[in-house]
Amino acid sequence: MEFERAERLRLLPPYLFKEIDRLREEVRAKGVDIIDLGVGDPDQPTPPHIIQSLCQAAGDPATHRYPAYSGMNRFRASVAGWYQRRFGVELEAASEVITLIGSKEGIAHFPLAFINPGDKVLVPSPAYPVYRASTVLAGGVPVEMPLRRENGFLPDLGAIDLDTARQAKAMVINYPNNPTAAVADLGFYAEVVAFAREYGLIVVSDAAYSEMGFEDYRAPSFLQAPGAKEVGIEFHSLSKTYNMTGWRLGMAVGNATLVGGLSQVKSQIDSGAFDAVQLAGITALEADQSCVEELRLMYQQRRDVLVAGLQKLGLEVEPPKATFYVWCAVPPGVSSAEFTMKLLSQAGVVSTPGNGFGAAGEGYVRFALTVDKERMAEAVERLAKLGL
Ligand SMILES: *Cc1c(COP(=O)(O)O)cnc(C)c1O
Repeated sequence: MEFERAERLRLLPPYLFKEIDRLREEVRAKGVDIIDLGVGDPDQPTPPHIIQSLCQAAGDPATHRYPAYSGMNRFRASVAGWYQRRFGVELEAASEVITLIGSKEGIAHFPLAFINPGDKVLVPSPAYPVYRASTVLAGGVPVEMPLRRENGFLPDLGAIDLDTARQAKAMVINYPNNPTAAVADLGFYAEVVAFAREYGLIVVSDAAYSEMGFEDYRAPSFLQAPGAKEVGIEFHSLSKTYNMTGWRLGMAVGNATLVGGLSQVKSQIDSGAFDAVQLAGITALEADQSCVEELRLMYQQRRDVLVAGLQKLGLEVEPPKATFYVWCAVPPGVSSAEFTMKLLSQAGVVSTPGNGFGAAGEGYVRFALTVDKERMAEAVERLAKLGL
């Protein structure tokens, strides 16, 4: 039998990392020792106190039943407490916080609640692919806001044409940023709030990397900007902060109408995150945060090895203030794809071509700091031998 996939799937590119996985396996099959700086998945285990908390919670039959759709009240209260302690942002747990099965799930479902077919959504380019994909799956039309180095990889709000601004229903921002590792300050967030108010836009902020700041840098939340809660929803996650990508636990917080709309969609589609995982999530958010401090230091050391190595090779790259990525300009006259292929086939080093995150990412590659610093030094050595 021949079954045709739905039209909407034809509008989506193959998921970026699936394609990179395929290429990596091809090279690995030839016996090459691969150093994988491709996918942004923490290599370290979840801290033991969080695992213990899960084991204990999983032993309680009360956690074995369907969870509440919007999440456990205790987890939502814990998220509100964390936002208060960390950002000084007040949230009402019952109406302004919901649990997600990882933040990707929430970001993917959000447009179904607010985007009608044909509605425009301003999405950054380069970007986490889900913003564009979820817009398309909801029948919306993504309009790219290029992130350029001369603007510190922030969207140039003044460059958005008036008609587009008026027609757009939502804008997505993501700082600290994947893939550029750029950060935004409260001044930028205040501009976004003003822009959203002027044109009646929903602001979708993705703050997954807020805790991955180096030296003294601690990223703000979009919701710290005055008036942000009137226009915005922020997605966050325990994935990166506590090495919990496999656990699938995140949250959406902010404007009650926006949170409520997402909650309505989710109640029709999924049945919530495992209560035992949410209970362990409470432990993660409320216990001593020294595990996060150690993680920051670890990524910082890896960053320093990689950035110094790349700079020595004459590549244009800045040490990032946050995230576990390094965004590096490729040598002149070479495309992102060519450069990535060269590193993979000749040095066994996996990186991600910048254009895979959107057209404006051409000319860059992204390295993830997800191998230890000895292995990172080995990667740098191999690149040095290549003579870029
Ligand atoms: C990793 C990541 C997330 C978190 O995804 P989860 O579904 O919570 O694991 C969200 N946004 C960006 C930009 C990311 O890179």
